[in-house]
Amino acid sequence: MGICSICGRTGKLFTCRLCGRLVCARCFDPATGTCRECSGGRRLDKVSDEPFTNDLRGA
Ligand SMILES: [Zn+2]
Ligand SMILES: [Zn+2]
Repeated sequence: MGICSICGRTGKLFTCRLCGRLVCARCFDPATGTCRECSGGRRLDKVSDEPFTNDLRGA
């Protein structure tokens, strides 16, 4: 038991494998083993690597 580093709630805690913070079940993503701050919001960056020209060549 302890205090979540993200939301401040008390409860069972998990350790984020990226930032190492202790976070509660609400703030932890078991699929990735990371907290919500590490697992969310950054994946869209890779979309910009895809050139739009691929769509034009297909037509
Ligand atoms: Zn939390
Ligand atoms: Zn984290």
